Amino acid sequence: MKQRRLIWQLYPSFLILTLLVLVAISWLVLAELRDFHYRQTSQDLLARAQLASEQLHLDLEVQHRAALMAKIERLGTRSSTRITVIQNDGTVIADSDEDPRRMDNHARRPEVIAALQQDTGVSTRFSNTLGETLMYVALPIYDNGALFGTLRTARPLSDIDRTFRSIYEDLIAGGVLISLLAAPLCWWLSRRLSLPLEKMTAGAQRFAMGELQTPLEESGSEESCRLAAAMNQMAIKLSQLIDRETGQRQEIEAVLGSMIEAVVAVDHQQRVIRTNPAAAQLFGITDGPLTGRPIQELIRQAELLRFVQKALASPEPIEDELLFHGAQQRYIHALATPLSAHGDEQLGVLLVMHDLTRLRQLESLRRDFVANVSHELKTPITAIRGSVETLLEHTENDIADQQFLKIIDKQGQRLNALVEDLLDLSRIEQSALSHQRELHRDPLLPVLESARTACESLMLSRQVTLKVSCPGSLQLKMDSELLEQAIINLLTNAIKYSERGGRVLLSASVRDDNMVLIQVQDFGCGIAAEHLPRLFERFYRVDRARSRQLGGTGLGLAIVKHVAQAHQGTVSVNSQPDQGSIFTLILPQNTPHDPS
Ligand code: ADP
Repeated sequence: MKQRRLIWQLYPSFLILTLLVLVAISWLVLAELRDFHYRQTSQDLLARAQLASEQLHLDLEVQHRAALMAKIERLGTRSSTRITVIQNDGTVIADSDEDPRRMDNHARRPEVIAALQQDTGVSTRFSNTLGETLMYVALPIYDNGALFGTLRTARPLSDIDRTFRSIYEDLIAGGVLISLLAAPLCWWLSRRLSLPLEKMTAGAQRFAMGELQTPLEESGSEESCRLAAAMNQMAIKLSQLIDRETGQRQEIEAVLGSMIEAVVAVDHQQRVIRTNPAAAQLFGITDGPLTGRPIQELIRQAELLRFVQKALASPEPIEDELLFHGAQQRYIHALATPLSAHGDEQLGVLLVMHDLTRLRQLESLRRDFVANVSHELKTPITAIRGSVETLLEHTENDIADQQFLKIIDKQGQRLNALVEDLLDLSRIEQSALSHQRELHRDPLLPVLESARTACESLMLSRQVTLKVSCPGSLQLKMDSELLEQAIINLLTNAIKYSERGGRVLLSASVRDDNMVLIQVQDFGCGIAAEHLPRLFERFYRVDRARSRQLGGTGLGLAIVKHVAQAHQGTVSVNSQPDQGSIFTLILPQNTPHDPS
C-alpha cells in the first residue's frame, strides 16, 4: 500500500469532519426550528378557530347564513386567516376566501374527520383551490348542544417556507465561509500534529546514518518531548557503545597488526573471518580484502588446508609443524584453537602460525657445524689414542710416565665417546628430518636381545643382571639399528646407575591403541623430580662428576629422544630417588598413514 504523509491523512479528515459537523448541526437545528414554527402555527390556528367558534353559535341557523358569511369574511380578513364552516355532511356553508357554493364536499378532509372524532384535527397539505401548501386546524361546533359540523382555520405555510429558504441560503453562505476559514485552521492543526513527528523521523534518519551528535529538539507536546528525550538518550548510549566497540576493534587491530605470528580466523565453510598483516605477508597476498574469501583461494598449501580441515573437525586445540613449498621452503609451526562465541557455539578455528624457517636454518647450521667439527676431531683423536697406546707399551717400566699416559688414554676415550655420540645425534637428526631411513616392520625381540648382548661386558663388570621380557610375535615398524642404539643407551644408564649386584628389567608390550611400550627399569639411585623435565636435553647431567667418572657424555638420553621422534613416538621417565627409574619408549606399531 502506498504510504501517505501524515499531514495528508489528517488535513482532509479534519476538513471533512468539520463540514460534516456543520451540516449535521444545521440540519438538526433547522428541522427543530421548522417543527417549532409548525407547532406554533397549529396552536395559533387552534386559538383562532376557538375564538371564531365562540362568535358563531347564533348564526348557524339556515336563515342567518348571509350574516354568517359576512362574519366569517370579516373575521378571516382581520385575522389574515382563512376560516371555513363545514356542516356535518361535509357541505361548506361559509368560507372567508371562497364562495361556498363553488366548493366541493369536505367530509373526507383529514382535519375534518379528525375534528369530528377527536375534537381537534390538524392537516398540512397542498391546496388545489389556492395553489399553495396550507396548514388546516378544525374544531367541532355545536348548535344548541347538538353537533353541527366543524369550523376550520387555515394559513398558508409559504411564509415559513420562505423564511426557512432564506435561512438555508444564509446557512450555505455561512457554511462556505466557515469552510474557507476552517481550511487553514485544519491545515495549521494537522501541521501542528504532524510536524513533531516529521522532525522526529528526520532525526531518527540522521541517527540511522550515524549522525548521533546532533540531538533532536525537545519541543511540542509533552509526549513528543518525552519521545525526543528518549531518542536522544538512545543516541548517546548508541554513540558510547560505538565508541567502545571502535576502541576495542582498534585495540584488536593494533594487537593483531603488531604480532609477528600470522593469524587467520576461518569459519566452518572455510571462509576467512579475519587475518592480520603478518598472515598476508606470509602468504604473499596483496590483492583486495581477505575477509569472506575461501581459504583455498588465498593459500595454496596442501598441508595447511589439510590441517585446517583437521582443526575444524577437532573440538580441542591442535598443533603441528608444517612444511610450505614454494620458491623457498618454509617451516611453519601452526596452532589451531576452536573459535567459540558465548561459550559453546563454535564459529570456526583460529590459526596462529609462526615461521620457524630461520630457526630451522640456524639449527641446520649448528647441526652441520657439530657434525663437521666432530668429524674433523675423529682423526686427531684416533691418532692421539694410537700414539698413547704405543707409548704405554714402550714405557712399561716407567711408573710416572705410565700414570700420565693412562690419564691421556682415558680422556682420549671420553673424547672419542663424545665425538661418537655427537656424530650419532646429528646422523639421527638428519635422517629423521630428511626421511632418509626407511622403517621396516620387524620382530622386536631380536633387537632387544642384540642390545642386551652389547651391554653384556658392562653388566659383568657391574655385576648387574638383566631380564628381558617381550612376546616373540611382537612386530614393530622401526629402524632396528637406531632403536637398538636407543635401548643400549637406556640399558647402559640403568646398569651404570644401579648398585653393584642390582637388576634391570627390559620389557615390551602392545597397548590397545596399537602403541608399543618398551620399558627399561632399574632399582638404582633414581632421579630427583626437579631434574626430570630437562633430563632429555643435550649435556644435561644430574651429577656431572659421577657421569664423567662413569664415562658418560650427557648425550645418551638426547639420542634416545631423537630416536623416539624418528619413529613418531615419545620417551618419558618415571623416577623416585633411591628407588630406581623407569624409562618408557612409546612408539606407534604402525606409523601413521600406514594402516598395514
Ligand atoms: P650420561 O652419559 O651422563 O649418562 P645421559 O644423557 O644418558 O648422559 O643421561 C643424563 C643424566 O641422566 C645422567 O647424567 C644421569 O644423571 C641421569 N640418568 C640417566 N639414566 C639414569 C638412571 N637410570 N638412573 C639414574 N640417573 C640416570
